[in-house]
Order: sequence, then structure tokens, then C-alpha cells
Amino acid sequence: MVSDTIAAISTGMTNSGIGKVRMSGSDAVEIADRVYKSPGGKKRLKDVLSHTIHYGYIYDGDQLIDEVIVLVMKAPHSYTTEDIVEIDCHGGVVVMKKILETVVKYGARPAEPGEFTKRAFLNGRIDLTQAEAVIEVINAKSEMALSSSVRQLKGNIRLKIAEIREDIISSIAFIEAALDDPEHMSTEGFSEQLKENVQKDMRALKKLLDSADNGRMLREGIKTVIVGKPNAGKSSLLNILVGDERAIVTDIAGTTRDTLEEFINIHGVPLNIADTAGIRDTQDIVEKIGVDKAKNFAEDADLVIYVVDGSTPLDENDYEIINLIKDKKVIVLINKTDLAAVTDADTVRRLMKEHPILEISAKEETGIDQFEVLLKDMFFQGNVTFNDEIYITNVRQKTAIAQALESLQLVMNSIEEGMPEDFFSIDLMNAYEQLGSVIGEAVGEDLVDKIFSDFCMGK
Ligand code: GDP
Repeated sequence: MVSDTIAAISTGMTNSGIGKVRMSGSDAVEIADRVYKSPGGKKRLKDVLSHTIHYGYIYDGDQLIDEVIVLVMKAPHSYTTEDIVEIDCHGGVVVMKKILETVVKYGARPAEPGEFTKRAFLNGRIDLTQAEAVIEVINAKSEMALSSSVRQLKGNIRLKIAEIREDIISSIAFIEAALDDPEHMSTEGFSEQLKENVQKDMRALKKLLDSADNGRMLREGIKTVIVGKPNAGKSSLLNILVGDERAIVTDIAGTTRDTLEEFINIHGVPLNIADTAGIRDTQDIVEKIGVDKAKNFAEDADLVIYVVDGSTPLDENDYEIINLIKDKKVIVLINKTDLAAVTDADTVRRLMKEHPILEISAKEETGIDQFEVLLKDMFFQGNVTFNDEIYITNVRQKTAIAQALESLQLVMNSIEEGMPEDFFSIDLMNAYEQLGSVIGEAVGEDLVDKIFSDFCMGK
């Protein structure tokens, strides 16, 4: 396998402690030798052991560019499975650029975004789900998203898909063998066995598809909406959670006209939070838009935070809100506990039986810790669960899995209708191929290019 040698700056393009220029390809070591000088001037990187580190200097001819250390990783034990040389230089934008220009001048080609990872995929070190996990690790917005992506990077989706495909291919092989050699192999009773197999595979695929919702929450945050009548303290709460003054807090009822969205991270739990206009019937047309939108938000939300003004009695707005959210996952916060209590937890509990209720004061910032802990508990156990399972976070993967499931459904239909066996194998084969596309088998060049073009430079 001969490949041209690519090079890129793999660290961020800002001044920082260290910068990294990376090369991968058949000539990586040779090119490095053209620009690297050891302190004694004698060392050649082509002679060093793989996975060793070397102190020295980078030169463009006679011109000294920087003091560096160089990491040499020889094929096949590297990120791309090719020879890789990493030059760790001082992390200045000018010096990094200069080193990149120099290795390009001496024979490397500037890499496309994601080209290192693309090579890891094309060279068979990782499958497409693992390649996609690389970018998800980089983009992870929370610890939960990170841990799911890292598991995907280790290959948990690939293994699961491989297991299901293995099953499908053995069914296909059996049908084909029986059809080819009817004298020695019989397909009698086979459809029952096949049915069981297909059902098992369908359950596994359904489980993966069901995980997509949780996967989405991991990636985009739990869609959370804060509801409550005007002046209950929604904006004040949001401000505390977000930790800045984005939401405008005022005394005039109904000033939160539209919704604000914020991405926040509570104990590693990612919340995509929308503060909504107080839900209430209103004549004001501008406000009406906000209120309708709020209702939609509440319907779509994974989690509803219902803020009750504890210093005033429950009113029409509260009853309307309770009606709207009673079947959702809700946390009730009784706010303004610094004032005389008019509405307390018991009153609310009678109306919102199973939902957790906490008392807080947004003004004095009390009860917020308990709220954050509750949120985390809800997230890690029960209600909004995350554990060691596999989560499909990627729309491309989800679509292919859904298609495979459809093909298996067709197999089931054919079995039930008593169709001849060779009918089954066509749909089984489709399912097999669709699952293959999840892990990147036989996918077109266009798709591969598109996936890797979303990557950062130097990855
Ligand atoms: P929203 O309409 O639900 O977004 O309510 P805001 O957050 O704008 O708050 C309305 C008013 O209630 C503001 O004057 C806040 O300062 C006040 N407020 C919010 N939370 C508390 C609280 O815990 N205690 C007291 N005393 N006032 C609060």
C-alpha cells in the first residue's frame, strides 16, 4: 500500500503552549529527515525505532525554524496505519505555519479536513461508526456525550452490527446451501427457525433505533423547557442555571415574549433549555406567538421544569399548565420561598402526584443545588436513563438501521405468506447490505467524502 504523504497542523490555530504538525504516508519519515536535525547532527529518523521521541531542530535548508521534539510511529501501528511523524513545536501560529510550509516544500501535501481519519477508515483500522465517533468526541458538549462517543470509538456499534449481520448471513448461507443441494439438505421446518432468527434480529435493531432518542439527547442536550405563569421566576432561574444575564428579568408580567434557548451542563448532564413566555391565555398578539410556541415546546420537551410562584395562589394559568404537562417528565419548583408561603408543596402535590417537587428561591439562590442533584439522579437512573448501552446518535446510521429493519419485516411477511425460500434471501441480503453501510462497507466515495469533510483540519 503506497500513499502520498499528507501534512497538517493538528492543534488549534491560536497561540498556545505546544503546536503539532503531523504527517502521514509512505514518505513521512523521509521528509522529516530532510527538515530535522538532531543536536549532534547525526541522527536519522529512518534508523530510529518506531514509537520513539527525538529532540532536535527543524530547518528549511540553513534556516533554523524551531526547536522541537519529533514522534515517529511506523506503519502499521499508527492512527492511519501508515508511517506517521508528529512534530511538536512551540505553539505559535507563525511557527506552526512555517513548519507546515517547510514539510510541504520538502515533499508532503497539505491534508484535506479529516483526511488522517479517512485514511484510518480506508485502511481498515476503524469502521465508519468509529470514524464518526472521532468527530463526536471532539464535538462532545458534555461528559455524557463524551462517554457515549468514546464507547462508539472503541467499536461498540460496529460489534453489535457485526453480530446481527453474522446472524443474517448464516441464514442466507443455509438457504442457499439447501437450494443448491436439495438431496442432502432439507429446508423443511426451516421457515420456523428462520422466523425465530429474524425476529431476534429485528428486536436487536429495534433496540438500537429506540436508543436514537437518548442518543439525540446526548448530542443535543435534553430538550428542557421552563414553564410557569408570568412572574413565577422562570427567567431568574434560567439566569442562575446559565450563569449570566441573558434572559431579561423584569417585574412586568409577560415580558418574556419569546423563547430563549441555552445549552447548559449540569453535573455533566447536557440540557438544551428553553425559557418560555408564561403560558396563559392572552389577547396580546405578540405575546400570543410566544405562548403558542411555548406550548409546542412543552409538547416536544424531554423534560419540563415547572416554576410555581409560591408567594401567590395557584391560578387559571397554573391549572392550564398542569393540564398541559401532567403526562410529561416534570420537575416542579416552588419558587420565592424567601417570601411568605401561599402555595406550598402539599398544595401542588395534590395536583401533580408523581412528579418531584422542590422548593427554591431564585432570588436567594437556595434549593438550586438540590435541584441540580435531582436532575442528575433523574438522568442517570429511571426516567431519563443513560447507562452502558449503545446509543445511535447519528442520523445516517439510524436511517440505514431503519431500512434494514424494514427488509427483515419483508422477510417475515414472505415467511408468513409461505413464499418459496429464495424469496427470503433477497430481503435478507438487503438487510445485510444496509447494515453494512452503517459500518461503511461498500459505501460510495461521495458519502465518505461528505462525512470526512465535516472534520477539523489535521484530524
Ligand atoms: P418570569 O416572568 O417567570 O420569567 O419571572 P422573572 O424571572 O422575570 O421574575 C419575576 C419577578 O420575580 C422579578 O422581579 C424577580 O426578581 C422576582 N423573583 C424571581 N424569583 C424570586 C424569588 O425567589 N424570590 C423573590 N422574592 N422574588 C423573585
